[in-house]
Amino acid sequence: MDFALSQEQAAVRDLCRDFAREVVSPAAEELDREHRFGYDIVRQMGDLGLFGLPFSEQYGGAGADFLSLCLAIEEISRADAGVGITLEAAVCLGAAPIHDFGTEEQKQAWLPDLLAGRKLWAFGLTEPHAGSDAGATKTRADLRNGEWVINGAKQFITNCGTDISAGVTITAVTGKGGGGARNGDDAEISAILVANGTKGYHVLPGYRKLGWHSSDTHPLSFEDCRVPEANVLGSRGGGYRQFLHTLMGGRIAIAALSVGVAQACLDASLAYAKERHAFGAPISKQQAIQFKLADMAMETELARTMVYRAATAYQNGTGETTDEVRMLAAMSKLYASETSKRAADQAVQIHGGYGFMEDYPVARYWRDVKVNEIGEGTSEVQRMLIARLLGL
Ligand SMILES: Cc1cc2nc3c(=O)[nH]c(=O)nc-3n(C[C@H](O)[C@H](O)[C@H](O)COP(=O)(O)OP(=O)(O)OC[C@H]3O[C@@H](n4cnc5c(N)ncnc54)[C@H](O)[C@@H]3O)c2cc1C
Repeated sequence: MDFALSQEQAAVRDLCRDFAREVVSPAAEELDREHRFGYDIVRQMGDLGLFGLPFSEQYGGAGADFLSLCLAIEEISRADAGVGITLEAAVCLGAAPIHDFGTEEQKQAWLPDLLAGRKLWAFGLTEPHAGSDAGATKTRADLRNGEWVINGAKQFITNCGTDISAGVTITAVTGKGGGGARNGDDAEISAILVANGTKGYHVLPGYRKLGWHSSDTHPLSFEDCRVPEANVLGSRGGGYRQFLHTLMGGRIAIAALSVGVAQACLDASLAYAKERHAFGAPISKQQAIQFKLADMAMETELARTMVYRAATAYQNGTGETTDEVRMLAAMSKLYASETSKRAADQAVQIHGGYGFMEDYPVARYWRDVKVNEIGEGTSEVQRMLIARLLGL
């Protein structure tokens, strides 16, 4: 078994590490403080080809593998998790469903701009009354005179309200008898593409969030919003299967994001522990601090290894998702997100009172990591999935 990265993978990691250090890190504190979306950073990530990494060259992608994308997300998130989630959501939730399930016309229409990072596409699954239980979606799309008429609401949607947002893929109930959902009424769920600017599609004011301040998150509403019948993603009734597959890659990518923040916590804590003196010596000489740092390093490395394994299995199994990939995706997301949470907590502790102040980045890391245990499936949902795959 070879755990070494290929030359191409290492090159992506190094490129992103340099970019994150030179461009993202210096801007991170200000973007966080001002709750500002980093348009210039997104443009530069587009120029580097990061939004097209795992996609076919035919549509402007780089033809790299899924692990390369995870390496990019890890390195960017090490500098700013808000920028990391912008990249993750744009690729895994925005472009991937169109790439994996779209018709040729849909791919031609949207992918070139999305893969170049000139435009962002969002993914609207979560609703006010359907989050973990995403199959209980209430948003409806009724086919009338060759158009889908959409009514409903989505919430907590990433990348839908920026100046470069081009549209959203939403899930909606399009009829009965689909056998797709688990909500007891045998709803047919389809995924439908809605372009920004479509009449009846409203992006509502953004949220006041605990963290990820450099990312863009809004609720959406649909009031008799009409789009052409051809905007159904792939085929009618495929929405449930499509979002399960989409979340599989998304979870591994969130795990990569989590590893990036855990590594940032370790980096900051190591440096601080060496410079901060107490009782006549650097605190790094105290065994209590050393053990915290040793645990952070070990858990971060273990989480990284799980991401590499899950990403490789996902890459090899593209198309139909196997139980092995489901298990690895759930485990890596669960373990890495909880690792990042522990790492941020210990990083603040190692910084003492300064850790509670915004003068050091660990306060931002602490605010940013909580959502890793919530987005794209909560920790409880990951444990449910693992238990189910254990046959329970
Ligand atoms: C910043 C941010 C960005 C997001 N971006 C997107 C996006 O781009 N697109 C999108 O579609 N969604 C997005 N989400 C939504 C996210 O995926 C959901 O918040 C998440 O899936 C949880 O759903 P919920 O918030 O409705 O919580 P709920 O499902 O209401 O869960 C509440 C609590 O109950 C627990 N729970 C629920 N059911 C069970 C059960 N059966 N057993 C045990 N415990 C259970 C949950 O684990 C949780 O602790 C985003 C969320 C955030 C915070």
